[in-house]
Amino acid sequence: MSEQHDHAASAPEAERLSLRADCESCFGLCCVAPAFSASADFAINKPAGQACPNLQPDFRCGIHTRLRKQGFQGCTVYDCFGAGQKVSQVTFGGQDWRRAPETAQQMFKVFPIVRDLHELLWYVTEALTLGATRSLHGELSRAQQETGRLTRQSPDVLLELDVDAHRQGINDLLLGASELARADVRHKKEHRGADLIGADLQGADLRGASLRGAYLIGADLRAADLRMADVIGADFRGADIRGADLTGSIFLTSPSSTRPRATPAQGCRRRSPAQRIG
Ligand code: SF4
Repeated sequence: MSEQHDHAASAPEAERLSLRADCESCFGLCCVAPAFSASADFAINKPAGQACPNLQPDFRCGIHTRLRKQGFQGCTVYDCFGAGQKVSQVTFGGQDWRRAPETAQQMFKVFPIVRDLHELLWYVTEALTLGATRSLHGELSRAQQETGRLTRQSPDVLLELDVDAHRQGINDLLLGASELARADVRHKKEHRGADLIGADLQGADLRGASLRGAYLIGADLRAADLRMADVIGADFRGADIRGADLTGSIFLTSPSSTRPRATPAQGCRRRSPAQRIG
């Protein structure tokens, strides 16, 4: 395992900073745009495009400090990858949907598109920090620039965008980056897209494994060795990862539960397998 993240790469790090949610600059889009289904992640049903009843007039969450207790634990793990502030402040120029209700429905439709693009940007930017992927850096940089360009398009153009086709191209590139990054790990397991729901993986050797798009919901991963594992698109909801070693794992995303306003859960608006990256 010779290759780790190249922390000397300052440009990708700066790019990643712009992909962190800034809820203060967002019009609560993740609390309005997606539909929720009552589940372990959400206490209520809510149709797409309708504001969560807990969303305050200032676009803050009225139960931010009690989300888990009140059954909204999904809100604590969702990440928009900075799409909320992009759509609010760039795509719609800082005009909020309450003051300009005629823009509301378009804004709510644009948000998940930009969110998907920002998620891709996050992964591409991470791939650019991996020293082992140097031979792909040219292609990755071009993908990063093109995806960034798409995020700055007008609402009408964004709504016409074939995000799935764009995602497929990027996914192929990320797959190549993953192979390069994990090349030095011997006897690594292949669990791409695997159904590992509720699996007993306590102490498992998953070093360098591909868990791309794997379903690990409720899995027991205590003390598992996940060093250098590729976890892109893996669904870890409810998984027990106490004591697991995720050092050097790639394409791991982290929720920002310390944000002033947490956001709705991935789980309740989970994408179909065809749309999931992995
Ligand atoms: S964070 Fe969750 S509970 Fe709070 S307003 Fe947003 S969707 Fe509703």
